[in-house]
Amino acid sequence: MIAAVLPTYNRAKISFERGEGMRVFTPEGEAYLDFGGGVAVTSCGHAHPHLVKALTDQAQKIWHTSNIYQMPGQEKLAQRLIDATFADTVFFTNSGAEALECSIKMARKYHAAKGHPERYRLITFEGAFHGRTLATIAAGGQAKYLEGFGPRVEGFDQIAFGDFEALKAAIGPETAGILIEPIQGEGGVRPVPPEDLRAMRALCDEHGILLVLDEVQCGIGRTGKLFAHEWAGITPDIMAVAKGIGGGFPLGACLATENAAQGMTAGTHGSTYGGNPLATAVGNAVLDVVLEKGFLDNVLQRSLVLKQKLARLKDEHPTVIEDIRGSGLMMGIKCKVPNADFQAKALEHRLLTIAAGDSVIRLLPPLIATDADITEAVNKLEMTCRSLEAKQ
Ligand SMILES: *Cc1c(COP(=O)(O)O)cnc(C)c1O
Repeated sequence: MIAAVLPTYNRAKISFERGEGMRVFTPEGEAYLDFGGGVAVTSCGHAHPHLVKALTDQAQKIWHTSNIYQMPGQEKLAQRLIDATFADTVFFTNSGAEALECSIKMARKYHAAKGHPERYRLITFEGAFHGRTLATIAAGGQAKYLEGFGPRVEGFDQIAFGDFEALKAAIGPETAGILIEPIQGEGGVRPVPPEDLRAMRALCDEHGILLVLDEVQCGIGRTGKLFAHEWAGITPDIMAVAKGIGGGFPLGACLATENAAQGMTAGTHGSTYGGNPLATAVGNAVLDVVLEKGFLDNVLQRSLVLKQKLARLKDEHPTVIEDIRGSGLMMGIKCKVPNADFQAKALEHRLLTIAAGDSVIRLLPPLIATDADITEAVNKLEMTCRSLEAKQ
């Protein structure tokens, strides 16, 4: 008999009923240290008092109106994102995939509005992940997500990760832009070198095409800057954001320059829930926390500690760990053992981690992690490595 919940997930046999800061608790009261953050979502930690207050205050007032009316909270969040980034305008969604859908549609519409509807293709990269809608599985290009779902949405040209010559060769008269994650998340925590991002920006300018960044996972302070592309000193034309921006409340956004958004006039796109009063109350509270003086600097400092400890762990456990990679509090442990085994063992040691492609275990802790949390997590990783070595 089919499960009550459509069985599309491979779930661990554990549930959590409460969370506080860096920790979550089972119904029996057992504490787990959360270094997965619900896949980079719980940016401010669990039950952050400021977020709880923002949500409950808003819940007493009004939950939902509609995007057919003015929404002051949404406008405030948009303006704050604009003030903090390259963007001139923002569209709100409920998820990352929808933020990408808006980004893809906008890139196509930009060229159409300029009299070039034939320029609708986006160049994407192997190992990419952009979501699970029909367009975003086509953009991600992973066979396992495309199979059996009918004709693939047209308009995505995938090239090898890091192959700059292939990238240049792929740009043609139908190319609308380049779509890339500054750090691949699901693909296995693979950062794009800053010089590559700069070269892509130059290439886009040269060809009059758009640079579209997917910062759904690596954005909102994860790397120690508000957005990962800031490390490269470039700005995109369009950027998709989600996960950490809602801190656990479903919220996403598509940010764009005025130029890139020129085709998106009234009636061209929409969402029932996107940016509703509850979601944007929480989004504003997340920004209060992340933009507070010293917060991002703290992420950076903690990440240096984590990186150093992980490097030592790798040296001490060469039969388990092949490589450490990533940036900020988005780190990947490339395993020599099956990463599912690593994840399961870490869970036994009461540490939550997230598996990724390329045999990688991701560490995506809430950005409020302290040195003590990091030490505790690395101790648990150490025990995990020892348990795995004992089996070898
Ligand atoms: C999670 C993710 C998405 C999809 O977000 P959903 O909220 O699951 O739709 C898109 N891009 C990246 C880089 C992601 O990590």
